[in-house]
Amino acid sequence: MSHIKIMDEILANKIAAGEVVERCASVVKELVENSIDAQATEIKIELVESGTKEIKVTDNGIGMSREDATLAFQRHATSKIIDEDDLFHINTLGFRGEALPSIASVSEVTLKTSTGELGTLVEIDGGKIIKVETGDARKGTIMTVRNLFYNTPARLKHMKSLYTELASITDYVNKIALSHPDIKFVLVNNGNVLLNTDGSGNLLKTIRDIYGLDVVKKMIEVKGEDNDYTVNGYITLPEVHRSNRNGMITLVNGRVVRNLDLNRTINDSYHSFKPDNRYPIVVLNIDVDPSLIDVNIHPTKMDIKFSKLEELCSLISNMIQTALKGRTLIPHIEVREPIFTYTDKPRYQEMQLELDRVLNDNPYQNEEAPIVVNEDLTSDENAETLFKEIEEEVTKLEFKEPEKRLPEIYPVGLVHGTYIICQNQEGMYIIDQHAAKERINYEMYMREFGHPSEGSIALLFPITIEFPSNDFILLKEQFAFLRTLHFDIEEFGINSVIVKAHPTWLPKGQEEEAIRRLLEVVVACGNDFSIEKFNEAAATMLSCKMAIKANMNITMEEMEHLINDLRKCKNPFNCPHGRPTIIFYSNYDLEKLFKRSGF
Ligand code: ZN
Ligand code: ZN
Repeated sequence: MSHIKIMDEILANKIAAGEVVERCASVVKELVENSIDAQATEIKIELVESGTKEIKVTDNGIGMSREDATLAFQRHATSKIIDEDDLFHINTLGFRGEALPSIASVSEVTLKTSTGELGTLVEIDGGKIIKVETGDARKGTIMTVRNLFYNTPARLKHMKSLYTELASITDYVNKIALSHPDIKFVLVNNGNVLLNTDGSGNLLKTIRDIYGLDVVKKMIEVKGEDNDYTVNGYITLPEVHRSNRNGMITLVNGRVVRNLDLNRTINDSYHSFKPDNRYPIVVLNIDVDPSLIDVNIHPTKMDIKFSKLEELCSLISNMIQTALKGRTLIPHIEVREPIFTYTDKPRYQEMQLELDRVLNDNPYQNEEAPIVVNEDLTSDENAETLFKEIEEEVTKLEFKEPEKRLPEIYPVGLVHGTYIICQNQEGMYIIDQHAAKERINYEMYMREFGHPSEGSIALLFPITIEFPSNDFILLKEQFAFLRTLHFDIEEFGINSVIVKAHPTWLPKGQEEEAIRRLLEVVVACGNDFSIEKFNEAAATMLSCKMAIKANMNITMEEMEHLINDLRKCKNPFNCPHGRPTIIFYSNYDLEKLFKRSGF
């Protein structure tokens, strides 16, 4: 190859680098996926300054011959592999080929590789091979990428802060570790271990290594299948949630994908079990015939198209909802142990907190105190035993009749006209009476909206309400719908309506305000009005309006009544806004708090 031709090629690589290599994370992704393709069972990723100074990936895979090692950095050589075998497209993590030469063109790369017999060392600077010699015979590959974008300053400017770079690498490595529980992943930044999975093939263990034992303790195993899809994985109880979507992970045939429809389906399945602006941790494996999916071939994208998306979404949503509805979901208040100091973990936790801050993911900032979290595990042995217990517990999915999920509990008294203290043999329960009443009302209204009862009540004095003209237009479009709910509503002069009769289920004594608020709900539904959307918003609004306020003393009998009604709810554990209605202190925890037993 002539010198000019090589220069052209380097230029082409640099241009391609703009598309393929966007950030440090794309380099990590490329190198890690090469290691996976090389059948590695251990992959160590070491970063200096979040990868901006150096990214080193060490694997114990099959390694490369001297010829392959030099060819790997040439565009045409690698793209040839792609045409060779169609199966490659489906079975590997995506076909690349352009990426390695592109990375090499904008950095300084050292490749040490060996098939176990003869080792090869290749050094490349800005895309030019400057050294090829015999190296160590240790089987596997070590790829080091230094000073990314050093020769393309414009690109370098695009790199975000060190924390943002690290955050997206961590996010990627977490996901790839989850999709390969059988591979041991170690992620290190500036000498700090951020992730260390055990590679035992146990998905739940990988989840523990990433999110901690406390999250695993609050997970449910889920399974489901239809004619085309098989789905299984783990989902958190609704009390565990985070401020971003990074914990919702879907794998399709072992490959991490990021699909908006699936994420929305997962999150919607938790609706009213948790606050809407918080997201669960969910890891789902989806197995499907490859002919039913269309993998986006762009190497930096992870999206996928499903040919029977609706089926898949309803499968997932049924699976999650069934799992949640079959459980007792009372947040258990665990008493914190004093925090132990030990070496490796706190650094990781510190980093996580730091990352959380950067990513705005500290769930407990500007918010009420956390309910969960019992961070500590003293020794690995304890952790292992505890993990076994948890593993056994997690896989059990007990289905109970709605009325049996909330245990039998008996009120003892009321605090500040707000919290009902209850007891049974297991311990103490505290119910937020407003939240509980809201839930009861909400389910009552949802039933009512589903089958509007006949009849309406005429107002003695019809109400007229004026609206801004754009709101009036929205409202007028829904007159017919409102009439099916037994509102007698008509246009009355410019931008005004008159309501002469209303359905029977409006709160007594607050009819007028309720009518105004309901019409506001119609307007708030906006242009994409749907009955579901209206029902949901109206039921939530009315349920809050109609609930007993905090600071209101109710009698013991009324408390018993409330608990009974709550027991009959489909989801007795959360108010329609997703807040808990009830929390639990076990006898054990109470004893611990009062130092009654030898803790
Ligand atoms: Zn409320
Ligand atoms: Zn609420």
